[in-house]
Amino acid sequence: MRIGVIAIQGDVSEHVESVEKALAERGETAEVVTIKHKGIVPTCDGLVFPGGESTTLGRLILREGIAEEIKEAKEKGIPILGTCAGLILLATRGDSQVEKTHQYLLGLMDIKVNRNSFGRQFQSFEVDLDVSVLDSPYNAVFIRAPAILEAGVDVNVLASIDEKIVAAEQDNVLALAFHPELTEDMRIHQYFLDKLFN
Ligand code: GLN
Repeated sequence: MRIGVIAIQGDVSEHVESVEKALAERGETAEVVTIKHKGIVPTCDGLVFPGGESTTLGRLILREGIAEEIKEAKEKGIPILGTCAGLILLATRGDSQVEKTHQYLLGLMDIKVNRNSFGRQFQSFEVDLDVSVLDSPYNAVFIRAPAILEAGVDVNVLASIDEKIVAAEQDNVLALAFHPELTEDMRIHQYFLDKLFN
């Protein structure tokens, strides 16, 4: 089993450590690799797309030829976890800012995203979030976080703050507006790993 973390930019090492910790917790072994170039995605059984700056990330995955490989992985049913900027890139469409700048989106989840959705006064915050697939609230860390404004009928909404969707899944793709790699609670990573090991 091999799990790849897209390592173009963003909080890559935290994701690698979290996946390794979650694997250890469940007593599984798997190789965790970082992906900077074309050719590695097709060898992975699971993919993690970290946060960062979505415009830059989009441009670089396209330039490196990784974008096409991620789309193929989605078609093959490989579980994909996207957080924050990763969520933005998974979307099919965005708000007017996204449309205006023509930023690249992979289009793997039927959602409309809004970048920096929680305003300047809430650049970063933590909240105890009810996540439908977890049995008690999850302390979620948000950093200049996006939100999902609209979700298609095939999208399963997992968590919201007021009317803003902050966690959702569709088929093998799981998208989070927050950063599970920045907390000790591994339940979100375990939920993702369940898709690989169950
Ligand atoms: N605000 C960033 C963007 O829109 C995402 C922030 C993050 O990934 N922490 O690209």
